[in-house]
Amino acid sequence: MYKNVQRKEGLECKVCMNPFSDSIGYNIPRMLDCGHTVCHSCAESLQKVASDKRSIRCPFDRHVTDGFYENVENLRRNYAIIDLIQARNEEAGLAEEVICEDPIIPCYENSKHESTKYCQACKVDFCNSCFLSVHSSKILSGHQSIPISEKPIRLPNCPNHPDSIAEHYCKDKNCEASTPLCCFTCLQSAHKNHTVVPMEEKADENERELMNLLETKNLTEIKGFEKLEKAKKCIRSIETDDAECRSMTKAIGEHFEREKKKAILKLSDFMNTNMMLMESNKYEIEINLERIRKTKKSIEKVLKKKDLFFVKETIEQGESVCSLNFVEEGLWIYIWR
Ligand SMILES: [Zn+2]
Ligand SMILES: [Zn+2]
Ligand SMILES: [Zn+2]
Ligand SMILES: [Zn+2]
Ligand SMILES: [Zn+2]
Ligand SMILES: [Zn+2]
Repeated sequence: MYKNVQRKEGLECKVCMNPFSDSIGYNIPRMLDCGHTVCHSCAESLQKVASDKRSIRCPFDRHVTDGFYENVENLRRNYAIIDLIQARNEEAGLAEEVICEDPIIPCYENSKHESTKYCQACKVDFCNSCFLSVHSSKILSGHQSIPISEKPIRLPNCPNHPDSIAEHYCKDKNCEASTPLCCFTCLQSAHKNHTVVPMEEKADENERELMNLLETKNLTEIKGFEKLEKAKKCIRSIETDDAECRSMTKAIGEHFEREKKKAILKLSDFMNTNMMLMESNKYEIEINLERIRKTKKSIEKVLKKKDLFFVKETIEQGESVCSLNFVEEGLWIYIWR
């Protein structure tokens, strides 16, 4: 019988998106004081990014959790989630194979089964169900299996001597770049006098490096997650806080209304001042014209009377009228425009 077990909503850590587990240490759901739950490894990362190692800041609401004596192990497990996981596992049936699209270690019998066992005699990986059916015959029933996690590291074969196992790793620069694997024969020939280490040692070194990378990734992920939550909060505050937005719009409106009134006042002030000036200019022009008219009349009178002997006063009057200056025209043009 096949059962297609899908990951259930809510059963993964919302920070790293890895599924919670009831048995795998770093995937155990840990509760914070605020009620939020993160996986064990995210809790550790949160502790690492905290300025005070005795406290953890919740990535969802910034609430501080302390009192776990600097050890994440002391944070309570979320048993509601653990119960759900166990119920799901029971539902899936431990003896039945689990179909999954992309198993981490595919079963030898079916590449869509996740392996759980390693047969020490067959030297291959099986899911529970396939192990049982393959070994149901009398001949094979004696095969011993071990959990897949305890499967020994299998050393690769030597690329130059495919029948021999490559037990060493050459750290010589040129060899590392091309063919670092070497068997016993290679040690005496191609890699003679090179610095070599046992493959297991190299594997440990690689494992440590990968673990470090994973940890750095976790720290970066936590920081990214905190940034994301902050951004979400900002967006939410803009979307929901209508009142704030409305009062700002109102303030802007009022500001421009005030400025408009000020500008109109200024303009009418300007107009009034100029109006007075223009009135006085007009008056001055009228007076001048009046003077011109009078002068013209008196000159005509003198001419008609032919009283041409004593005209000094009239000439002076005429000259002063001719040199009269009228108001600058600039101001008028400005108003006409
Ligand atoms: Zn919280
Ligand atoms: Zn996590
Ligand atoms: Zn076997
Ligand atoms: Zn299988
Ligand atoms: Zn070799
Ligand atoms: Zn070498």
